Amino acid sequence: MSEKSNIFFYKNVLENIPLGLMIFDFNSKKIIEANQTSKELLGYSENELKDLTLYDIEKGDRKELDELINKLEENYSFDKETILIKKDKSEYLVSAKIFISEHLENKVIVYFLEEYSRKRSLLKHLPYIDDLPEMILENLPIAFYTSESPSLSDATWISDNIRKITGYDKEQFIKIPKFWESNLHPDERENIKKLYRAGLKQPYNEITYRFKTASGNYIWLSDRYLVKEIDKEGRKIIVGAVLDISMEKIAEIALKESESKFQTLVKNLPGVVYRCEIDYPWQMFFISPEIENLCGIKPEEFINGTVKYADIILPEDIDYVIKEVKKGIEEKHSFKLEYRVKNKNGSIHYIYEKGRALYDKNGTPLFLDGVIIDITESKLMEIKLKEKEEKLSNLIENMQEGYYRSTPDGHFLEVNNALVKILGYSSKEELMKVYIPLDLYFDPSEREDAEKENINFIPNLEVYRLKKKDGTEVWIEEHARYIRDENGNILYHEGICRDVTERIIAERELRKAKEKAEEASRVKTNFLANMSHELRTPLVGILGFSEILSKESDNPEVRQFAEYIHNSGMRLLETVNLILDISKIESDKLYVSLKRSDVLPLIDEIVNLFSIAAKNKNLYLKKETRLKSLFIKYDEILLRSAISNLVNNAIKFTEKGGVIISADVEEKDGNKYALIKVIDTGIGIPKESKNLIFEEFRQVSEGPSRGFEGSGLGLTITKRFVEKMNGTVEVESELGKGSIFTLRFPYTGKVQFIEKLVEEEKEEVVYEVEAVQKGKQLPTILLVEDDDASIQIVKEYLKDMCNVDVALRAESCLEKIKHYKYPMILMDINLGRGMNGSEATKIIRKMPEYKDIPIIAITAFAMVGDREEFIEAGCTDYISKPFTKKVFNKLIKEYLDKIQNT
Ligand code: ADP
Repeated sequence: MSEKSNIFFYKNVLENIPLGLMIFDFNSKKIIEANQTSKELLGYSENELKDLTLYDIEKGDRKELDELINKLEENYSFDKETILIKKDKSEYLVSAKIFISEHLENKVIVYFLEEYSRKRSLLKHLPYIDDLPEMILENLPIAFYTSESPSLSDATWISDNIRKITGYDKEQFIKIPKFWESNLHPDERENIKKLYRAGLKQPYNEITYRFKTASGNYIWLSDRYLVKEIDKEGRKIIVGAVLDISMEKIAEIALKESESKFQTLVKNLPGVVYRCEIDYPWQMFFISPEIENLCGIKPEEFINGTVKYADIILPEDIDYVIKEVKKGIEEKHSFKLEYRVKNKNGSIHYIYEKGRALYDKNGTPLFLDGVIIDITESKLMEIKLKEKEEKLSNLIENMQEGYYRSTPDGHFLEVNNALVKILGYSSKEELMKVYIPLDLYFDPSEREDAEKENINFIPNLEVYRLKKKDGTEVWIEEHARYIRDENGNILYHEGICRDVTERIIAERELRKAKEKAEEASRVKTNFLANMSHELRTPLVGILGFSEILSKESDNPEVRQFAEYIHNSGMRLLETVNLILDISKIESDKLYVSLKRSDVLPLIDEIVNLFSIAAKNKNLYLKKETRLKSLFIKYDEILLRSAISNLVNNAIKFTEKGGVIISADVEEKDGNKYALIKVIDTGIGIPKESKNLIFEEFRQVSEGPSRGFEGSGLGLTITKRFVEKMNGTVEVESELGKGSIFTLRFPYTGKVQFIEKLVEEEKEEVVYEVEAVQKGKQLPTILLVEDDDASIQIVKEYLKDMCNVDVALRAESCLEKIKHYKYPMILMDINLGRGMNGSEATKIIRKMPEYKDIPIIAITAFAMVGDREEFIEAGCTDYISKPFTKKVFNKLIKEYLDKIQNT
């Protein structure tokens, strides 16, 4: 190969190496030569470059540059980082190798500029450049060779640089046979040779291999060579450049390693990482496999362009994504996005994306790098939560109840419109500004008190008052609670409240009304109790004397009239008793003393009591039972009164037939009951009145046209009495045929039947007081009584049994008994002025000689429950006013007999 063709070749190489090469005149600093790479680097054309100097191209102070170049003369070559100014005035950092040389007899400055961005084949074009000294080439990290066969083994010429690279002289390659081959890495020796042979068939090749240097290390060499046919016989010339690429190779291996590390990392990332084009529709260069889980599309499809990233974004969100990404790129900061993508299977995923653009040295964005994370789950939760929150706040806003949240020190955090209305404010904003303790309470201490009470709060309901904006009072009923942090400190109060002012006012009124009613009822009860006394006392006279007259008058007409008076008096007494009983029930002063005893004797007694009344109407009245006895727990007075009321009604409402009182035991649902029935054959009760008749003052026929007399109280009292004894009253009836009133009591005892059901003998029992045997001295008893008529009646009744001494007042009674020891005392309880009968009895009982004598209370306070009081005071027995001779004499005789027998 001639010298000329050598030069020609070098020029070509230099024109195309990926290094910028510029040559300046040493004195004028004008550009003499610039290779293709440097022209591209600076953006100038061949012509434009001609007029430029070093000062136009390199940034920096002229003086400094000159100094530097002057230094170069001495030091020969120099490396530095410098900034070049491009045609468009942008700056470009390069590393430059600068040295001084001779060129066509001129002193020149040579700049080698390192440029990375382009990859070009070394020997692509062959434009013409003349004469370039070999020296220049010596400074390149490249060894060139020409050869007859590929590789350095048959080289005809090798540049001196080979020594720098391999440590061997070029002569060793040229002269020692197989020198090159012997230094190839044994593992790849054969393969490399094969590659070179194959390379002969194509004009340009690049082969990389390992080569053992003089120091014994292997380095990586890259051999880029051109194959040219030089004559018609097919002779070929090979021109090659050998570069030491060990550093790059090591870097590449390291990169591969770190890349594979990076790839495992990427694979395991919970999200997707990507690198893509900067513009819509974002063609992917790389996207990690996780993308398939997100959208059902394989990463390859994105990378080979079948699918663009924009295709999976929901159309509604695409504008937003474009805008945000663009903004991020322009403002050179990372972008964070939330949008939706669709999966092939139709599902929609919410994603979070964070990415940023990467820029080249000019600031031109090259591509986007980023991470995509599927946040569907949390997003859906967030949406649900938001919906819930919205619903809740909607609810709160629209509910009729007031709602608030406030701080413990008394400021609102939240209020709703209802509360604004309740408190009379004009807007939420206005209410939010209030200081609760001062603006909403009449006295701040009310809030503190409430707080103290509620400090260990369980959510509860409270009613309290607040001050409205206009200063008036509003009553609030509130469900409140304290919200606390994990340490138990109160964060805020929360409550739902209602305006209950109207209710509170109504309650106040009601309370007042109730108090009034109670007062009225007390007055009524007192009135009735007093009336009882007032009515009963005169009745003693009326009944007593009319009875005497009806029996003892010689004039039959008088006897008849007296009987009328007696009957009317009896009716009046009955009514008075009923009114008293009901008032007693109402004032809750009904004392009940339940004792277990047989009711059959009580029934007998009642049959006897009413036998005359029945007989008078030509009705039968009898007891019917198959039982020997019927023991139940009852109060004798109450039950007698209840049955008597029923029998009384039965006789009253029956014209034909009669009345039966039956006693039996019934088993129902596993329970036993004692049944006492009053069965009549009377007028019956209409269905619709069955419940009504148990109400106070109610009768089947009411008003002026009612057919029967009565107060309408009997059944009411009966029912209440029976209930007090744990029983019930039922009624069955058929109009025109009769009625059955049934009293039902719980029954626990054994049932004993009489052998044979015997018809009760309807024998009339009359308690006539037996005349006291003549000739025997009558005892003298003491009557303490202030009512004259009563004194006369008692004296008249007892005239054949005993003498009656009288004390008008308790005080005189106490005086009298000191002087004479009476065997029996009849004590009226209400004695008008001074001490009453109970008090006197208590005193008498303390006297040893009067410890055991019978003291019989006589009273017009014949209200149920009173007798306990008399018995407690020390009375032996009691009889209520008015009384019939029969009953009175029977009682007195009983005690007189006892005295006489002891
Ligand atoms: P009264 O004093 O009017 O009898 P009651 O409370 O004893 O009051 O009875 C209320 C009403 O029930 C009576 O007025 C009568 O209409 C009806 N009544 C009660 N017992 C009978 C009965 N055995 N037969 C028919 N009607 C009766």
